[in-house]
Amino acid sequence: MAIAQQPQQIWFFTGSQDLYGEETLRQVDEQSRAVVAQLSGGITAPVEIVWKSLLKNSDSIRRALKDATADDNCIGVITWMHTFSPAKMWIAGLEALGKPLLHLHTQAGQSLPWSTIDMDFMNLNQAAHGDREYAHMVTRIGVPRKIVVGHPTDADVHRRVNDWCLATIGWRTAQHLKLARFGDNMRYVAVTDGDKVAAQMQFGMSVEALGVNTLADGVQAVSDAEGEALAKDYEAQYEVVPELCAGGTRHESLVYGARIEIALRRILEDGGYTAFTSNFEDLGNLRQLPGLAVQRLMADGYGFAGEGDWKTAALLRIIKSMTPAGGGSSFMEDYTYHFGPGRQKILGAHMLEVCPSITDATPRLEIHPLGIGGKEDPVRLVFTAKPAPGRVVCMADLGDRIRIISNEITIVEPDETLPKLPVARAVWEPKPSLAEAAEAWMLAGGSHHTVLTNAVSLETLEDFARIARTEHVIIDEETKMRQFRRELQWAAAYYRLAERI
Ligand code: MN
Repeated sequence: MAIAQQPQQIWFFTGSQDLYGEETLRQVDEQSRAVVAQLSGGITAPVEIVWKSLLKNSDSIRRALKDATADDNCIGVITWMHTFSPAKMWIAGLEALGKPLLHLHTQAGQSLPWSTIDMDFMNLNQAAHGDREYAHMVTRIGVPRKIVVGHPTDADVHRRVNDWCLATIGWRTAQHLKLARFGDNMRYVAVTDGDKVAAQMQFGMSVEALGVNTLADGVQAVSDAEGEALAKDYEAQYEVVPELCAGGTRHESLVYGARIEIALRRILEDGGYTAFTSNFEDLGNLRQLPGLAVQRLMADGYGFAGEGDWKTAALLRIIKSMTPAGGGSSFMEDYTYHFGPGRQKILGAHMLEVCPSITDATPRLEIHPLGIGGKEDPVRLVFTAKPAPGRVVCMADLGDRIRIISNEITIVEPDETLPKLPVARAVWEPKPSLAEAAEAWMLAGGSHHTVLTNAVSLETLEDFARIARTEHVIIDEETKMRQFRRELQWAAAYYRLAERI
């Protein structure tokens, strides 16, 4: 069953002051409600934008932003200064704000009534300077925020606010994320490891160790009958190879795979975990490396990464929570290159664990030997990712901070059909080119494990990183190596000097 995501609220506050008199404030009130309605009409993220109140003095501002901070249903705050709202009134409130902030710089009317405009109109519609006064204070205090400029019916305003709403969902997910690690990190591997305490301080995520035999014992406790029932579902959903079907020579392996899934779900649900890791070096009494089970759990919204890589597993859960309906995101690994002829490409995959949300095709359910781990042959879904624009993203622990790195890519069809490759895969062309993207990625210290998404936008990732006050290094069609290298050098100094972002 998919992880349930409760609809959340974004609170909308309108700034003004008492100076204007009752009639003007009545119009401000009415127009700001209309702005919320127009804005809401263009938002597809599962959030409700709630008109809250007109704020006219320091006390009400401080009270309102403290309430937003304390309320568990509120995952973000939008502010707009309809008129002039002297920003000293906002100091205490902004200091107290502990939720993501978007500053909508807008006005009620789209066009100027050129032939009738008078000073009453000018005094009512003065966000052009009211918002600048407010923004000055947000900058001075150092509150990370997104500024969106334009009329609330504008499609680009809708897109940018929607991207931010998705980022606030990701932030809420990170704050409540519990991750189960079955086993530790793969021995000797650096980039998949990191400071779990720092990660919890920065993102809220709790990374918890469970012995792998918690899972092995859990599988033992699942009956064959339960496994058989789930295997029947598999036969209905996937193109199952004959040897795995009921009556087939290797059907028992499929039933065992189903028992892994049932046990994993129970442990995750009982513990409130929404992400997990495994490690092929430490499988305890498990008979197979979990493949199919992991793939199906990812499709239901769980974060996962192999080899104990808790950062990528957490990032996948966060990105899945920000993935709009119809999109896909998966654990991925840069595996091997096509340096030509023709366009250069990366073939990405993992030993088994790629999420079927990145394909439209019906996956084939197959069984093949696995060269490492020393266990029985694991069952797995095999498919190819659908062509789409997308990006790969990772989190790297640099010791003094966690850096998010993303690379814009185009997922493409493989040049040929890959008939001998027994795992799910994706083929993509990174931007600006494979050579520059790989050079930049490695200079930035990025990992071989990533999250590949065909749905979460770059802007949502940028918004998320800003909310998390963490570095986000972007590799895209604009990347120039000389400038990129300097950017990393400047960032190294910046993140040591800056008190706030
Ligand atoms: Mn790996």
